[in-house]
Amino acid sequence: MLDNLTTRLAKVVKTLRGQARLTEDNIQDALREVRMALLEADVALPVVKDFIARVKEKAVGTEVISSLTPGQALVGVVHRELTDLMGGAHTGLNLATQPPAIILMAGLQGAGKTTTTGKLGKMLTERMKKKVLTVSTDIYRPAAIAQLQTVAQQAGIEFFPSTPDQKPVDIALAAVDYARRHYFDVLLVDTAGRLAIDQVMMEEIQALHATVKPIETLFVVDAMLGQDAVNTARAFNDALPLTGVVLTKLDGDARGGAALSVRHVTGKPLKFAGVGEKLAGLEEFHPERMASRILGMGDILSLVEDARRGVDEEKAKEFAQKLKSGKGFDLNDFKDQLGQMKKMGGLSSLLDKLPAQFAQAAGQLQGGVEDKAVRRIEGIINSMTPLERAKPELLKASRKRRIAAGAGVTVQEVNRLLSQFEQTQKMMKQFSKGGMQKMMRAMKG
Ligand code: GDP
Repeated sequence: MLDNLTTRLAKVVKTLRGQARLTEDNIQDALREVRMALLEADVALPVVKDFIARVKEKAVGTEVISSLTPGQALVGVVHRELTDLMGGAHTGLNLATQPPAIILMAGLQGAGKTTTTGKLGKMLTERMKKKVLTVSTDIYRPAAIAQLQTVAQQAGIEFFPSTPDQKPVDIALAAVDYARRHYFDVLLVDTAGRLAIDQVMMEEIQALHATVKPIETLFVVDAMLGQDAVNTARAFNDALPLTGVVLTKLDGDARGGAALSVRHVTGKPLKFAGVGEKLAGLEEFHPERMASRILGMGDILSLVEDARRGVDEEKAKEFAQKLKSGKGFDLNDFKDQLGQMKKMGGLSSLLDKLPAQFAQAAGQLQGGVEDKAVRRIEGIINSMTPLERAKPELLKASRKRRIAAGAGVTVQEVNRLLSQFEQTQKMMKQFSKGGMQKMMRAMKG
């Protein structure tokens, strides 16, 4: 999605080359490209206008630091603004209530409500160890109730039966009662959708809402709908006090405009993203990661989250031991850490979680330059002998020249890495005194 935003930006990035600061003049073409790309991605016009104005305001006057090109600096600004537009930080589910925490699923037919109900049930059961019950109040669509039953079975959650001759509100009340008496933590209420916004449907879900008083009212919307998603979101947001949005079918060729507009229009956080038909295809929605995805920076963070479960516990312990024993942290460890992190799918993600000085050691992480920076650092470290890595103080001019030549970088770059490493080492020492646990937590997530 929005793939061509990256391509478009790359084109204008060239014209910005050599500028020391971003000005209204020199970013004009770039902004035009961003605007076009967003419109093509089906982002609503008012949202685009607002967005461009904000990017301009933030970008103009920005000094370009030496390690970034002006284009990258601008991409950095666009990235931050995209993140903000989608809500900034991730917002999770709110289950803090007298159980059962009731979650009402709202949305058009085909949006993915039933599927998402199953996905959420699975996530709540498996990851959060909740006891989950689900019920369908869809008495209109043939087989809707049976569909939820199948999904519930696959998700490993309990299903509360209902029949098409019952009234939705009665079904919901019976399910709440059952959930209470059987100590369920969460009750997921799947509702009927229509093909388009319709008054009767809205009144019904309003009645359901008033009856079960859910702590979460999630609006499920198909990302492929583009502009229509915005209108639907507006209608549901007007009719119901939504607490969050689930954007489904982000695995498809959705152009992503919905992700950008829905939050803007509803003011409600995007809480989850549906990324497949399978029940495992649900992710927490992280605005920053989505912004990276949109800009074609990949989604390293999500990758790492998956990979983190496979972190080499032994290595991590060994590393912790080393720090604790005060034996210090040398460039050999640094090399190991780089290898570990790379194995886990990306470096910047982990560095993000580590203290800032450490992150700096791997170069600036904005603008998709991280991989290149990491490769250069690796090149430098690989060109050292193990002894040099253990004792960087051995590195006098001639050795540095050899290393620089071996890594295809300048001596200055070698020096920069060494001084950053020194800072890191100092910081690590401090860490080993007090913050060890915090650090390990950060690394394991
Ligand atoms: P409902 O009418 O809102 O309950 O929608 P359903 O849950 O029945 O989903 C409609 C269709 O969308 C089904 O074929 C689902 O498999 C599919 N679907 C739902 N969520 C996703 C998703 O995140 N990705 C993909 N590719 N398909 C999805």
